[in-house]
Amino acid sequence: MTRKFFVGGNWKCNGTRETIAKICEEFNKGPSVGDAPVEVVLGCPFIYADYTREKLRKDWILAVQNCWVGKGGAFTGEVSAEMIKDAGIPWVILGHSERRHLPELKESDETVAVKVAYALANGLKVMACIGELLEEREAGKTQEVNERQLKAIAAKLKEDDWKNVVIAYEPVWAIGTGKVATPEQAQEVHEQVRAWVAANVSPAVAADVRILYGGSVTAKNCKELGEKPDVDGFLVGGASLKPEFLEIVDAYKSK
Ligand code: PEP
Repeated sequence: MTRKFFVGGNWKCNGTRETIAKICEEFNKGPSVGDAPVEVVLGCPFIYADYTREKLRKDWILAVQNCWVGKGGAFTGEVSAEMIKDAGIPWVILGHSERRHLPELKESDETVAVKVAYALANGLKVMACIGELLEEREAGKTQEVNERQLKAIAAKLKEDDWKNVVIAYEPVWAIGTGKVATPEQAQEVHEQVRAWVAANVSPAVAADVRILYGGSVTAKNCKELGEKPDVDGFLVGGASLKPEFLEIVDAYKSK
């Protein structure tokens, strides 16, 4: 098993040139991860991608947080996978719970899956997010929901596509709430997700695909979460806007 630890950041709709310059300056003080067994990928707002790249250390990689479902054209306000690729940004975050559940957005499983497949077909790498709402967990539907979201994506991918995908399990009740899943809760779901991939994609993909945990990850709780065998890293929202993100990156050392 050679799953390289992965720490993703998601700045969401936050930042100004001033705050980005400041936080990049903090991040740039951390030790190089160029030769370390960890991949760090920071999801910035589209408008600041070039600026972030200019300011950010070169051993961290850039992502954006969405893309259009297909080829560009008469789709006002959208950004296509081809444009993201052309702009030199290797990764995109897709299926984030905010895009799935905010009433203004309401992306369906199908929309997310179409985006994932199109982004991959156009040379991007994808952090594909899945996760259950609190009421779904309370109704005992955690596994069902995660598998439904995963199934929609898997239906559109070829086995080979999976080498460019990381799965981010982000229980919606833990995102931005300060209410983190316990390491046991995270491990339980990650194990189920990996088993689902083994049974429905292939055992080889299941062994290789990285499954990140996301939801109120901080410098305080990351080590314990990262020690779990099926937790291959994190997708970090709030704390990726703070210097403590460096400590979260360091969690690879306790793997
Ligand atoms: C996220 O936005 O993907 C996330 C996990 O947010 P937070 O870490 O703030 O809970």
